[in-house]
Amino acid sequence: MLETVRNARGEPRTESVALEAAAGRVLAERIAADRDYPALARSVRDGYAVRAVDLPGELEAIGEVRAGESFSGEVGARQAVEIMTGAPVPRGADAVVMIEYVRREGARVTVGESAKAGQFINPRASEARAGETLLEPGKRLDYTDIAMLAAAGKERVRVYATPRVAIIATGDEIVPVSETPRDFQIRNSNVYSLAAQVTRAGGAPEILPVARDEAAHTRELIERGLDADLLLLSGGVSAGKYDIVERVLGDLGAEFYFDRVLIQPGQPLVFGKARGKFFFGLPGNPSSTMVTFEIFGRAALELLGGQEDIALHMPFARLTEDFRHRAGLTRFLPAGLSSDGAAVTPIAWRGSSDVPALTRANAFMVVDADRQDWQAGDWIRVLLK
Ligand code: AMP
Ligand code: MG
Repeated sequence: MLETVRNARGEPRTESVALEAAAGRVLAERIAADRDYPALARSVRDGYAVRAVDLPGELEAIGEVRAGESFSGEVGARQAVEIMTGAPVPRGADAVVMIEYVRREGARVTVGESAKAGQFINPRASEARAGETLLEPGKRLDYTDIAMLAAAGKERVRVYATPRVAIIATGDEIVPVSETPRDFQIRNSNVYSLAAQVTRAGGAPEILPVARDEAAHTRELIERGLDADLLLLSGGVSAGKYDIVERVLGDLGAEFYFDRVLIQPGQPLVFGKARGKFFFGLPGNPSSTMVTFEIFGRAALELLGGQEDIALHMPFARLTEDFRHRAGLTRFLPAGLSSDGAAVTPIAWRGSSDVPALTRANAFMVVDADRQDWQAGDWIRVLLK
């Protein structure tokens, strides 16, 4: 259902970027090995290239080979060539002995221990063979991928276009960050947390003005937002009298895939498509907005951005204290995960508006819907923040 963002001809939108600008982008081409890796058998240690059958024993040093050189001769019986890490292994040698295990006097090299054939040598093509796929399209490029692209001679690389994501807050109580709110008003934090999450998920956020809780104004902004590749709305999707977002979207001919999820925070989440664009109506309470985007919106955005692996990683940790909740909803609650990731502690929380508690957390504890009680020491899943 969700495909990469397309151009007018229906092809995935891609662009070519310089290697330096490629980290975090999603690869849109297959990258093949331009040659064998390594191209020659290479030493992975500083030491001596030898024939394993000669050891232990006394050998004659016949020269040296440094990284960036190749040795023209051959290692014969009871001979050795001093070799540096990364240098090609001379013909005739089948093992490298680390410098620490060698005594050298003049040309005489004494090795007290035996060696296994192949030790400390990466044979030609042992890492990758010429033509073999190194990177598949759909991969979000991390720093190891950047190293691979550089090694494979890719000065420029084809990536998927960054999806444009329109963000609209709704609500008559919402005022700009620059204003001092009256007691009954709230600063517009959701569009900024969403913009940060969108950027992190590989999208380009575009913050639109706040929609008043009034149909014509909300419709005008939604129509603008539907110019983007994905539209995120915050607020106005609960059951209140002025929660009009769903109605306005319906009037625009929207198709709704769901309008409720069994999680907390975030129950009244809306997902659908209007005028060919996907939208999310995210509940307005700040933690509901953040959690529903992280669980649902992020995955949709990553798919639009061409990413293949959109898995949410939720490893287990052990609770440091007893815990109970009312079964029925899967809860995502602020928690502190220990530095080794092994232990998790719930953080006191006043509910969906409690942003201060969220800032003290480094993770969410994922509390199963169908279980009520946990004891200290029980396993529970966590989602890193
Ligand atoms: P709603 O989902 O529209 O009923 O909003 C629920 C609550 O979330 C509101 O009462 C506000 O306290 C809060 N809220 C809604 N929109 C925002 C926003 N843009 N920034 C911060 N808080 C918001
Ligand atoms: Mg509202």
